[in-house]
This record gives sequence, structure tokens and C-alpha cells, in this order.
Amino acid sequence: MSLFDLTGRVVVVTGGNGGIGLGMAQGMAAAGASVSIWGRNAEKNAAALKTLANGTCEARQCDVSDPASIERAFNETLAKYGRVDGCFANAGIGGGGRSSFIDRPQSEWREMLATNLDGAVLTLQHAARHMRDRAGKGDAFGRLVATSSLASISGTARNEHYAATKGALNSIIRALAVELARYGVTAHCVLPGWIESEMTGGLFSNEKFVANVMPRIPMRRFGKPEDFAAVAVYIMSKGSSYHTAEMFLIDGAYSIF
Ligand code: NDP
Repeated sequence: MSLFDLTGRVVVVTGGNGGIGLGMAQGMAAAGASVSIWGRNAEKNAAALKTLANGTCEARQCDVSDPASIERAFNETLAKYGRVDGCFANAGIGGGGRSSFIDRPQSEWREMLATNLDGAVLTLQHAARHMRDRAGKGDAFGRLVATSSLASISGTARNEHYAATKGALNSIIRALAVELARYGVTAHCVLPGWIESEMTGGLFSNEKFVANVMPRIPMRRFGKPEDFAAVAVYIMSKGSSYHTAEMFLIDGAYSIF
């Protein structure tokens, strides 16, 4: 059997209907996993589902800034498949037009935390409870993953609320890796560099931005969603069971140049 055969595994990917999340979902579906992609936009969900390689995947409408929506989506996914082996808390919003910390309205701070932090934490919590219960029944296996950002390390001027959510995810994932190890659960963060997606579309069409940033990326290209397929498959594989609390930098060496 292939080291990376995910047949029989069930994986939730929030924000799986586009960008990085879809790249991960496509990789895992091609490796045989049943992937449940969650997003708010039904049309994006339907279009994304068509690109997944096997017929056991599904798309589900969920707004991760709403705790009731997460609970419903998780319970329905569980009812359909009977298990969830992996949970990729990837859904996120960027900072939009950057504005000063000094002037940041509470509403922006709250919206950012509700989606990028509360949404990820609640999703991971549902999955962790289920993984603990399953371990108690002799089926110990789980993978918890958060999509963080290089902003979690560097901070981001005029986008500090975004960076704060990602820094918090790094800390939480490390805590989960220790607390949940006894249940056969590993926990990781993926830290993307500059990646082509809906979130970065506006930025990457700005010539000045590209002229300044590209020379600082040793790989001399922006990342693409498909650059996240293989790392997701690796994380979900049985072979990575002793590898936990990793901060996977997927950035073309941007952060060390
Ligand atoms: P996209 O905008 O392409 O994807 C964001 C995804 O999140 C979409 O699927 C969107 O679906 C979903 N989403 C947003 N808000 C919610 C919500 N409230 N509930 C459910 N789903 C939601 O961007 P990326 O693929 O680039 O971003 C994915 C992750 O990667 C994010 O967490 C982002 O912070 C992180 N990241 C991205 C970087 C980059 O350069 N692109 C760099 C570093 C980190 P829908 O609109 O249908 O809800």
C-alpha cells in the first residue's frame, strides 16, 4: 500500500472552496480521502466540488464566524461519514485595505477575530472532541491543522489584527499537540508565504507591490494553491504520526532570505 494512500479517511477543510484550502482538498481527494469542503458561498462550493478527484467528497455551507453554523456543519458531516480524521481550519479573511491601529474600529477587530480565530478554534474543538471519543473506542487517529501566516512571526504593520489571529493559532496548535498526543492526534500550522488566491488578487495586480516583493522570493514566483496539496497529504498520512507541532513554512524561502 502507498505510504500516502488516504482511502477511508475523512477530512474537513474550512475555506475549502477556493485558494489554499482548495489546493489542499484537491491533493487529499486525489490521494483517496473523502473531503468535506466548507464555505459560505454556495456557488463557489459547487464549482470547487467538481474539481475534487473522487466521488466521495462533499461541499457544505458554513459560516465559521457563527458558532451554530459550525456545530451544524460538523454534526452533519459526522452523520454522513461516521468519522472525521482530519480538520483543516483554513478559512480566513485578510485585513482588506490596511488602516492604522490607532484608528481601528472595534468592529474590524471583532470581525477579524470572529472568523480567523474563534472560527478556527471552534472548528478544531468539535474535531478534537470527536477524535478523543474515538480514541476511547480504540480508534486513535487525528490531524488538526490551522492555516496560519508568516504574519504570525513578523506581525504586519497596519494589519495587526490579522497577524494577532495567526500568532494565536500558532500557540494554540502547539498546546493541542501536547494535550491531544495521547489520543493519537497530531497538530500543525501551515504558514503560507505570498500565495495567488482571491485574497491576494488585488495586491498581486499592483505592479509596485510585485516589483518590490518578487526579488525577495528566492523561488522567484508567488506560491499557488497546488503547492499546498502534498503537505496536506503528508499530514493526513499514517506515516506522519510521530511528527507533530510543526510550523510548515510554504513560502519559497521568502522568510529566510
Ligand atoms: P481565499 O480568499 O481564496 O480563501 C478564503 C476561503 O475562506 C474561501 O474559501 C472562503 O469561502 C472562506 N471563508 C472566508 N470567510 C469565511 C467564513 N466566515 N466562513 C467560512 N468560510 C469562510 O484566500 P486564501 O486561500 O489565500 O486564504 C486561505 C487561508 O490562508 C486564510 O486563512 C489566509 O489567512 C491564509 N493565508 C493566505 C496567504 C496568501 O498569500 N494568500 C498568506 C498567508 C496566509 P467563502 O467566501 O465562500 O466563505
